[in-house]
Amino acid sequence: MSEGAAKKEEKPRKFQAIRGTRDLLPPETALWNHVEQTAHQVFGTFGFGEIRLPIFEPTELFARAVGGETDIVSKEMYTFTDGPSSIPEKPDPHALGEYLRAADEEFGKGEIPNTSANRLAIDQLKAKFEEFRQASMKMPLGAFVVESEEAFDKYQKEWNEATVLASRISRGNVLTLRPEATASVCRAYIEHGMQQLPQPVKLYYMGPMFRRERPQKGRYRQFYQIGAEVLGGSDAPAIDAEVIEMVMTVFDRLELQGVQLDINSIGDKNCRPKYVELLRAELLKVKDKLGPDSQRRIETNPLRVLDSKLESEQGIIAKLPRIADHLCEECAAHYAAVKHQLEMRGVIYRENWRLVRGLDYYMRTTFEITAKGLGSQNAVCGGGRYDGLVELLGGPPTKGIGFAIGEDRLILSLQESGKGEVATGRDVYIAWMGERAHATAIRAAKDLRKAGFSVELPPVEQKFGKALGQADKLGAKYALILGDNEVSEGLWTLKTLADGSQAKYTEPDLLEYLHKQKAR
Ligand code: AMP
Repeated sequence: MSEGAAKKEEKPRKFQAIRGTRDLLPPETALWNHVEQTAHQVFGTFGFGEIRLPIFEPTELFARAVGGETDIVSKEMYTFTDGPSSIPEKPDPHALGEYLRAADEEFGKGEIPNTSANRLAIDQLKAKFEEFRQASMKMPLGAFVVESEEAFDKYQKEWNEATVLASRISRGNVLTLRPEATASVCRAYIEHGMQQLPQPVKLYYMGPMFRRERPQKGRYRQFYQIGAEVLGGSDAPAIDAEVIEMVMTVFDRLELQGVQLDINSIGDKNCRPKYVELLRAELLKVKDKLGPDSQRRIETNPLRVLDSKLESEQGIIAKLPRIADHLCEECAAHYAAVKHQLEMRGVIYRENWRLVRGLDYYMRTTFEITAKGLGSQNAVCGGGRYDGLVELLGGPPTKGIGFAIGEDRLILSLQESGKGEVATGRDVYIAWMGERAHATAIRAAKDLRKAGFSVELPPVEQKFGKALGQADKLGAKYALILGDNEVSEGLWTLKTLADGSQAKYTEPDLLEYLHKQKAR
């Protein structure tokens, strides 16, 4: 077989969405839009403004904000070097000159980090390049002939040194696809000097996040969050309560079923470290009875042991000291006031002393909301207070509290409980026949669409029987029948597909009738 024929036989590769990512398709996307519109509306009524953030940020931002010990930073981030393609990751011995020229040029353009360390590394490599060039010129063509051993060794040595120097050139910034957005919101707050605005600043966002987790139902590598943050001003308990009230309002509007709000206080930098030490000491006493994950967490993050869902650990965890008994006076008072504020707002909560958040930056109020129909991944929202975060990122001391809704899970829960239906069918299918009718149909479609109706206008003529079948398949509510008779009479036939009834209307009457039906 010729090469060409073999190529023809080869089946073209079928592409598929990457594991842990997925396409969201109609009609489901209508539900996504409905959820997002509801969030826009509710957040707006609470005085929040939308912030749109970059999808990637310096890795350092997340490492600092989320915490190096967390699962997210230690193993789940999608990280890459944002370097220009003209500078390969490693230089080629035959192209070191070009590599250097490119490095110099990109440095001048600011395409690779314009730092003194980079300048030095490039200059040192330049000097080394001269030595390397000399050494390579002395190399006879047959490099392995015995007499040339010395020249070869010299060449090897210079090349090794050149690669070491090249590795010191930073080709670009190390970036990460955002695994969450709170760090970015804080970065933006600092970058745009938002502390100058009336405080607190109330922001919300929605969009995809990326974590390299093991995919399963309700857990994806690209997933979507809708979140809000309150930055600056005071840490008045009413702020915590209002933020929670806001997210509960969204869930209420969406008729999310089986909503359960859990709250806790995890103390602050005065009382939490002492509690964590106490917890660690108690955990060490029972270390042998714990699973490997919890054993590891005794060292790295003992609070996370409280999160464990392992059946065998439940009895042990139940006997551990509880943070509520170890809060300092200020934290205890804050927590009591948050609960009181929730009660004033009619928000029903459950105290859950085992509720800790996976991310380092939380303090005092933490909360989680679960919903029906989600199995083990049943948290649809997590949030809490993070007063030290802005400062940790180089900003002024700033209070902060926020939450993130897992939109994928919210949608799943709505679907599972039968609340996921959003009308997507066409309002009107225009069944037309004949040239004159086509012209009228085009005009009718334009007018109906302008009035806000969803209209399907077939591009080619169809027999009425086929057109009505098509209208049915598309879930249209009405078929507007336009034949030559209708056009010359000026009376249009409207068929209600649900019951098969039909009636004739003049053009203005038809619009009025449809409007009335829609309003019902
Ligand atoms: P977190 O940012 O970890 O506090 O998560 C907040 C919410 O985002 C969770 O309650 C989940 O609903 C959702 N979430 C987190 N990770 C994932 C994931 N890998 N897939 C789907 N949803 C997620």
